[in-house]
Amino acid sequence: MRVIARYDLFFIVLYALLIPVVGVLVFCMTGRTVILPLLLLLEALYLMLALRKPWQRRQGLRMSFPGEGREFLLSRSAYFHGLDEAGRMRFERDVRLFLVDVLISGIGGRPLSWQTRLLIAAGAAAMLHGRPDWEPPLVDGVTIYPGMSFDRNYQVKKGNIAGQAPAGGPMLLAEGSLMQGFADTEDGFNVLIHELAHFFDREARKSGLKLRLRSGTVNWAETIAREWERHNHGTSILPAYAAQNEAEFFAVASEMFFENPRPLHDAHPELFEILREFYQQDPRQVLVKNLRGN
Ligand SMILES: [Zn+2]
Repeated sequence: MRVIARYDLFFIVLYALLIPVVGVLVFCMTGRTVILPLLLLLEALYLMLALRKPWQRRQGLRMSFPGEGREFLLSRSAYFHGLDEAGRMRFERDVRLFLVDVLISGIGGRPLSWQTRLLIAAGAAAMLHGRPDWEPPLVDGVTIYPGMSFDRNYQVKKGNIAGQAPAGGPMLLAEGSLMQGFADTEDGFNVLIHELAHFFDREARKSGLKLRLRSGTVNWAETIAREWERHNHGTSILPAYAAQNEAEFFAVASEMFFENPRPLHDAHPELFEILREFYQQDPRQVLVKNLRGN
């Protein structure tokens, strides 16, 4: 993550230059002096709105990362634990930017612990670690339900839904399942990674993302669809839920990629290459030892 994404910076500079150019042209054509102070006002207003988010991010980065937060992450995030010092600094920076940007709220205004917020940000930071130009695709934020699950009518502590990734809405997570996903870091189950993968997948389809594989450049949506078909007609080490559809296939594969990448690589090297190119990283290089140091 960056304080200002390159794409945003380009348009901020472009519009900041266009406003005075258009204003001066209008002044030359009409000769009305009232245009000049209006122009200044418009430019100031535009810059204030355009730079609000980068300024908030800059302020967020000024806060030092709390020592207890680092200790907590070292004990809960195998990914953070496995990074070198430079990697941890960048990870902590992404965590702070995420917490500045993304609204995380408890259902019905229920208060949330800093540990819950930190784990959500840490999961996103791990997934974004190889993609510094990507942003967390969570414009509607994250909503946390108490307990292990909720049901189809969003009744808390009922049903068996641990998380959801609705299009055009916040990411929904059951807090107990979120915690459980980080408690066992090698079981290949992590509801946060699963649901966030759905949001990344949707963004990639929307933008027509291309991947550069050894076989050549491929379209993201077509490649993951083909890989899903292939898995449905062969032997797969992925949990059965991956067979539901190509979106679930990618979300389930992402959980394993970030939690237990070696068996995934050994059993399905082609799928592993696709995920490595998608996330632009190889978690095998980070997850060299588990949290107990073995
Ligand atoms: Zn899913």
